[in-house]
Amino acid sequence: MCENILIMFPKELWLSLLISVLLLSCNEFVEKTDLIQQNDDSLVLESDQVEGVSLVILGTVQDAGSPQIACQKECCKDLFENPDYTRKVVSLGLVDSKNRATYLFEATPDLPSQMERLNQFSKSDLGKVPDGIFLTHAHMGHYTGLMYFGKEAMNAHNVPVYAMPRMQSFLETNGPWSQLVANENIAIRPLLSGGEVQLSDEIYVQPILVPHRDEYSETVGFIIKGPSKSALFIPDIDKWDKWEKDIIGMIKQVDYAFLDATFYDAEEINNRDISEIPHPFVVESMEKFGDLPIEEKEKIYFIHFNHTNPLLTKGSVQREHVLKVGYNIADFEMVIKM
Ligand SMILES: [Zn+2]
Ligand SMILES: [Zn+2]
Ligand SMILES: [Zn+2]
Repeated sequence: MCENILIMFPKELWLSLLISVLLLSCNEFVEKTDLIQQNDDSLVLESDQVEGVSLVILGTVQDAGSPQIACQKECCKDLFENPDYTRKVVSLGLVDSKNRATYLFEATPDLPSQMERLNQFSKSDLGKVPDGIFLTHAHMGHYTGLMYFGKEAMNAHNVPVYAMPRMQSFLETNGPWSQLVANENIAIRPLLSGGEVQLSDEIYVQPILVPHRDEYSETVGFIIKGPSKSALFIPDIDKWDKWEKDIIGMIKQVDYAFLDATFYDAEEINNRDISEIPHPFVVESMEKFGDLPIEEKEKIYFIHFNHTNPLLTKGSVQREHVLKVGYNIADFEMVIKM
């Protein structure tokens, strides 16, 4: 039956079918090339190439995601009907192939798919929970994914959750999180600023306090050290000069720096004064890092994009500019060898 239908196709149709297939594979090629055109050659694109210790970008978007609830602007209006699966809330995965272990940085509202993507990258069984989850702070994009380990969902057993003191007490004393602790769905592992957690003989994680709106918890960034590379992860921070640490000195100490890029410039916030908004705008960061040599600029991967941020859109003028002047932009499923 199928064969008959195929034979009945006129020659012209076959030709247009062939052209469509060619165009489709061309499109895919353009997308992949776009990734490769980032200013760093250590990006791996296929999950089966992940080996040793690697970081996987599992999400790049600000807490509220993209599309953002109730946004009727150009940035989101089509995405409610046609979601873009690459737009997930900010998260990094860490794969330790030798020890068959996985770690998650942040528990986002997109945790179910991010956990499975991490399992695919690490060739773990579906449903394996991470061997540790590191939380930066108690804002919705960074910890609420813990709910999926509770009774109404997975009813997991003692998933290790690394948290700073205020974050720990927030989880232990406020429902529904306290229920996860009481039911032993999660097991909190205390963190201290500057103290190092050893995950294997070659992986270390160090939390560092950063200034941010700390209503319910303190906020940290992390330095993640692998066997040969290290990465700094600061998804949320107030302005760089509000920090007692020198961000430029920090960048010099690591190989990669994933930095808060919530907003690109004032246009996104209706031209309000950017000095009032408690995030370093990308244009401000580029000015601050402007005199760094190219090898230092290439370490920087902008991440944590608000739904309005033009860096989320492939081919935007702003995206091209950021890449052209030497910085990188974190993309979903980028893999970085550590
Ligand atoms: Zn955030
Ligand atoms: Zn929007
Ligand atoms: Zn925050």
